[in-house]
Amino acid sequence: MAKRDYYEVLGVERGASEAELKKAYRRLAMKYHPDRNPDDKGAEEKFKEANEAYEVLSDAGKRSAYDQYGHAGVDPQMGGGGGAGFGGANFSDIFGDVFSDFFGGARGGSRGGAQRGSDLRYTLELDLEEAVRGTTVTIRVPTLVGCKTCDGSGAKKGTSPVTCTTCGGIGQVRMQQGFFSVQQTCPRCHGSGKMITDPCGSCHGQGRVEESKTLSVKVPPGVDTGDRIRLSGEGEAGSHGGPAGDLYVVVNVREHAIFQRDGKHLYCEVPISFADAALGGELEVPTLDGRVKLKIPEGTQTGKLFRLRGKGVAPVRGGAAGDLMCRVAVETPVNLNKRQRELLDEFRKSLQGDDSHSPKASGWFEGVKRFFGDV
Ligand SMILES: [Zn+2]
Ligand SMILES: [Zn+2]
Repeated sequence: MAKRDYYEVLGVERGASEAELKKAYRRLAMKYHPDRNPDDKGAEEKFKEANEAYEVLSDAGKRSAYDQYGHAGVDPQMGGGGGAGFGGANFSDIFGDVFSDFFGGARGGSRGGAQRGSDLRYTLELDLEEAVRGTTVTIRVPTLVGCKTCDGSGAKKGTSPVTCTTCGGIGQVRMQQGFFSVQQTCPRCHGSGKMITDPCGSCHGQGRVEESKTLSVKVPPGVDTGDRIRLSGEGEAGSHGGPAGDLYVVVNVREHAIFQRDGKHLYCEVPISFADAALGGELEVPTLDGRVKLKIPEGTQTGKLFRLRGKGVAPVRGGAAGDLMCRVAVETPVNLNKRQRELLDEFRKSLQGDDSHSPKASGWFEGVKRFFGDV
């Protein structure tokens, strides 16, 4: 059997927008869905056909292949295989989307129609200092809140919902036809047992409206990237009298110019002069509480870690504060004047023939010698 043109199947123009495709598909799927047409082979075929057409045309890549090469341009097996006719990789997405208003609260296993609102996630960017010390921030979160016009009932002011005529107020209907034989949430009242004959104008009967909510969030000291602060009941409002979801504020600590953080410990690199490293000296190093003095012993090598106990982060879950590790990096002097060059040259000559001043180099040259000896 020759396949019909996909655009023709959906009844749209070739240049149809995504929204037009979806609308057309939705209309056909509702009309030919097996649940609505039990034991009707013709309807089932039409349902499959529409499903296949939509699957191709809703995918930009497949659609352009189809536009260019027709049916040969897209997988000929697609959606055509035997079985229940629910072929197609992203069918569940389409199903969930298209039928959400048809089957209503069937997803999510609601009881008596009351559905808990969704949890929300908000990413909170903090500076290291804020994360370590704790802070209080004000955030704005887009969310669904209960409609004030109708007090969340969804019914127009002065009216109230009436008992659903489809399920008689039970909220569930039996579907023993087509592909399913299950107890379904009533498609008309979404399981609430009530229906709204005169919907509220502000929320269109949803009982909830979109709104930006301003919240104050107390961030405890010591939080780190990935930590979550739960604000109970601050997620989306529930529907049909269900409880609100929660809001999860997820912390993301920005990179710091000086410190790297690893759990409760902080790391920083401190440059020291060649002379200080050789002769020893006192350095000023930064901590989150200000500068502190750090004694450097003579003969300090580059890369040496100095530990400042308790100058790290006090963990949010309790326990002792971590440490600040300062890694010294010996800096080679640059832009030397004539006098400084002479001094260093003199210094270099004074070292010649005596490797006791270079603990690493002597070991290193020994290693090189052994290496070439072995080869
Ligand atoms: Zn309302
Ligand atoms: Zn009902």
